[in-house]
Amino acid sequence: MTAKIIDGKQVAARLRESVAARTALLPFKPGLAVVLVGEDPASTVYVRNKDRAANAAGIAASTLRLPMETTQAELLATIARLNADNDVDGILVQLPLPPQIDARAVIEAIDPAKDVDGFHPVNVGRLHDGRATLVPCTPLGVMKLLAEAGVSLRGTRALVLGRSSIVGKPAAALLTAADATVTIAHSRTRDLAAECRRAEVLVAAVGRAELVRGDWIATDAVVIDVGINRLPDGRLVGDVAFDEAATVAGAITPVPGGVGPMTIACLLENTVTAAVARRG
Ligand code: NDP
Repeated sequence: MTAKIIDGKQVAARLRESVAARTALLPFKPGLAVVLVGEDPASTVYVRNKDRAANAAGIAASTLRLPMETTQAELLATIARLNADNDVDGILVQLPLPPQIDARAVIEAIDPAKDVDGFHPVNVGRLHDGRATLVPCTPLGVMKLLAEAGVSLRGTRALVLGRSSIVGKPAAALLTAADATVTIAHSRTRDLAAECRRAEVLVAAVGRAELVRGDWIATDAVVIDVGINRLPDGRLVGDVAFDEAATVAGAITPVPGGVGPMTIACLLENTVTAAVARRG
């Protein structure tokens, strides 16, 4: 193995500590409300982890658990109440939502100033306009890992694999804002391997286990693997074949222990950012 391993656990732990240090200096406790509809097992675990990490960082986090049969009107009423609650600085609605609820309508109902996931159209617009305030947590984590790895992005050829609103598109916007020359690839891209081979920085966010092979990667490229995929044998792997890629890349994030831990840490940072912006 030649690649340097970018240790997301360590970077995330430092970020959580720095958030805790910031909250300790504030004259108020930032508030985070997490809304969970139904009992999806993965979502329940995520929400519990968010709650714990937030409280450990000096954020007053609370989880509102709503039943699976909650109507859209009921959820919108909950959001309206949280928007009006002065102690709540950040609102996060855990996705996915049950089928009777239009997730778009719910996201658009969140006060953009409290939208710590950065999914509201106002925050999406600001991001693409180069005036980002609240940025989606996973792509923000990707940028912090690149910074931590000492990657200079100006003029760099970057490829983002995946174009979701949650990861791919915002990651591409952030890389563009950092002066990288960005290509976005997706399921309709003609020759994915060739696109990957041109990249000096490769961000993979497709959700396909080990799709990116070692011979798709340029020598010394920096590889950030956002994917989280469970194999039939229970192992978690990324979108990149790690063992193959690590012999070619200059630096690479592992799965687990790469981007994953950054997402919650960035959520905490966004909550403090929102709180300070709202309360001055
Ligand atoms: P989505 O399913 O919303 O998007 C996947 C994207 O990958 C789409 O743009 C799709 O293309 C593209 N794609 C799918 N298959 C292929 C293929 N064979 N070749 C090329 N492109 C393909 O996923 P997300 O963006 O939400 O998540 C991506 C991965 O990141 C998942 O594994 C997810 O679990 C993980 N994730 C990790 C997080 C973390 O905290 N570390 C947080 C969020 C996600 P098209 O648009 O054409 O359909």
